[in-house]
Amino acid sequence: MELSQAEQERVARIRAKLARMYPRATTALIWRTPFELLVATILSAQTTDAAVNQVTPALFAECPTPEAMLRLSEDELADRIRSIGLYRSKARNILATCRILVEQYGGEVPRSREELMKLPGVGRKTANVVLSNAFGEPAIAVDTHVFRVARRLGLASGDTPERVEEELMARLPREEWSRAHHWLIWHGRKICHARNPRCELCPLLPECPTGQQQAGHSGQPGGEARPTRERRSP
Ligand code: SF4
Repeated sequence: MELSQAEQERVARIRAKLARMYPRATTALIWRTPFELLVATILSAQTTDAAVNQVTPALFAECPTPEAMLRLSEDELADRIRSIGLYRSKARNILATCRILVEQYGGEVPRSREELMKLPGVGRKTANVVLSNAFGEPAIAVDTHVFRVARRLGLASGDTPERVEEELMARLPREEWSRAHHWLIWHGRKICHARNPRCELCPLLPECPTGQQQAGHSGQPGGEARPTRERRSP
């Protein structure tokens, strides 16, 4: 993608401001190992990180490895995560994933996107979260916040998470992909809310086409198209 000089400068200003606003932005999930991050990220689908963090410390203390998790029956695991959404299917997917990790990967989490995406309950977004946070691989996981904020800021226009991911990777330096993912999530949580973005407080307003449009008109800001749900394995 060939960007004009003016657009390159606008994107650079957005990156610089986000870096200043969220210097320590990282995942809000609690985890210590790639396995724990994988499980926590599977659990976080359509659930808040805070809700996941309420169940994982006790779960990981009891089951820190795939082998230990497999000592639980599906009902026992479901019971330990029952306060979060879709807990039954998540319990089933986690145990199926643990079985594959033990049988095919010696109990380790694989380090490639292709292998991760073959695990039950793991779609592209979850694979990217694990790759970038657990293994330091450059990746942009597009969740609902990243999707919305990137589109509002004019960093992407695609109508699927995959397309938005491609556009962000084309516009942002590779070494910044993982941080940019966290910047956009935190900006979505703190200021650029889905229903009522706080454009009047937003330092990105001078660079944001949606905020500028909002300042001139009343009505709902753009970027409200929803990403498709992450693919679920059967
Ligand atoms: S100006 Fe408004 S729409 Fe643009 S990023 Fe800030 S809060 Fe979101």
